[in-house]
Amino acid sequence: MAAASPLKKPNAEGSLVIGFIGLGHMGGLMARSLLKAGHRIKAFDLSQDAIDRLVVDGAVATQSAAQAATDVDVIVTMLPTGDHVLDVYLGRGNVFKAAADNTLCIDCSTIDVATAREVTACAYERGKLMVDAPVSGGMPAAEKGTLTFMVGGRAAAFEKAKPALGAMGRKIIHAGPSGSGQTAKICNNMLLAISMIGTCEAFILAEKLGLDAQSFFDIASNASGQCHAMTSFCPVPGPVPASPANRNYEAGFTIEMMIKDLQLAQQAARSTGAATPLGAQALSLYSLSAAAGDDGLDFTAIIKLLQGRA
Ligand code: NAD
Repeated sequence: MAAASPLKKPNAEGSLVIGFIGLGHMGGLMARSLLKAGHRIKAFDLSQDAIDRLVVDGAVATQSAAQAATDVDVIVTMLPTGDHVLDVYLGRGNVFKAAADNTLCIDCSTIDVATAREVTACAYERGKLMVDAPVSGGMPAAEKGTLTFMVGGRAAAFEKAKPALGAMGRKIIHAGPSGSGQTAKICNNMLLAISMIGTCEAFILAEKLGLDAQSFFDIASNASGQCHAMTSFCPVPGPVPASPANRNYEAGFTIEMMIKDLQLAQQAARSTGAATPLGAQALSLYSLSAAAGDDGLDFTAIIKLLQGRA
């Protein structure tokens, strides 16, 4: 007898059928959290391998974004850039056309504020609901289902998004109207980019002065230098076992992605007249690191540039 399709399971109370599009570093883990919480997934990615990995965990494979968006309660997208998001919802992916009226669309990608607002406006024009819901916490939090979601959009859509977001995250924060989630995200990531460079500089100087990394970590992580870049993504091997520094800086959150976010922040700074000199400097340093060939490494690998090893 053929195994029952996961989508044919009796619909447990509160279980949603979710079209999940974009199963990369983050999306694959987030979709898995939804499956663990009892929701059912119609999965699509341009990479067949990414789809196949999720099918092993109980998702149903689809052949296109439009197919993943058909007959579902919710659509979640986790894509690289605003252009990908436009393409999936309005371009070749045709998701808005395929989705039924009142389907809730949740875009978790980090993209520019203007595109987020534009796609959301198009969603409502076509009878759908939509929020921008970028995430913080990276792959470790995605794996544990403890992401922070910063949500922009109408209150009704935010309320409707809570069950799906709650299965993937611990903190679900309504930042304000459409685009506010992306605003919070690019400001947050500019801060992370800067604090990672500061953390790297401190480890390098400590070592030059003869203080080993573990001793410096034990002190600074309990002193006023303590920050997320140090305690969750420590850029030197040793003190934080889960940090990419212990895996030759395998991503994670790539330098290329960090450059994208810093460019979004600089674009926003220019358009608003905000002074962000450290954000601009951070963009230059991560770009140098990428030009040296480290673009595909985790963003913590910025330490290699500062150590003269890029
Ligand atoms: P990724 O490149 O690993 O994954 C993106 C996936 O989207 C890929 O699997 C790709 O094949 C797929 N894709 C691209 N175009 C598609 C299309 N038209 N249809 C279907 N699938 C398509 O990226 P990621 O690291 O998972 O990041 C995704 C988003 O999350 C980005 O916007 C990033 O800035 C943000 N983000 C990433 C992290 C992180 O730690 N990696 C943390 C927070 C936020």
